[in-house]
Amino acid sequence: MAQLYFYYSAMNAGKSTSLLQSAYNYTERGMRPEIFTAALDDRFGKGKVASRIGLESSANLFTPKTDLQDTIQTLNKEKVIDCLFIDEAQFLTKQQVQQLIYVVDNMNIPVLAYGLRTDFLAETFEGSRYLLAWADKLIELKTICHCGRKAAFVVRIDEHGNAVKEGEQVEVGGNDRYESMCRKHFAELVW
Ligand SMILES: [Zn+2]
Repeated sequence: MAQLYFYYSAMNAGKSTSLLQSAYNYTERGMRPEIFTAALDDRFGKGKVASRIGLESSANLFTPKTDLQDTIQTLNKEKVIDCLFIDEAQFLTKQQVQQLIYVVDNMNIPVLAYGLRTDFLAETFEGSRYLLAWADKLIELKTICHCGRKAAFVVRIDEHGNAVKEGEQVEVGGNDRYESMCRKHFAELVW
């Protein structure tokens, strides 16, 4: 039986690199991986997943309105999908996570979702919340804080270098940057 995997981490833990490497393994064996990423993330242009170390691949885009079950059924009729990869999976809605579960359990296609566990206030994203609750396998991708501890938290830093303590979960078009930190350093700056 196919399974639903959730690879979760803070920022810059190599999620896209890991996704692209795994998708390539399917391509290399003559199989068909299909990649989706969130439309609101246009850091690397539309319809593309790119990693910091230079790998990239074209991708289907999803918005909160995309019916993933319907879209994937249509794609699967053209040519059978061997594995489905979802980047920026924190932006999935609850309903879309349920649609992916349909794909796993009823279409028998493995789904590998990659996303942030929490936002800059340490609250879960909707997609991550349900993936953490419902996935078959949870795999943490690790990165490190400036102090050397595991960094599981994300700090939003404004243009003056200060930690941001309130605001929208998804910032569009600002100058803020993000830094992954351990819980201790996150708590000192944000809580
Ligand atoms: Zn630290």
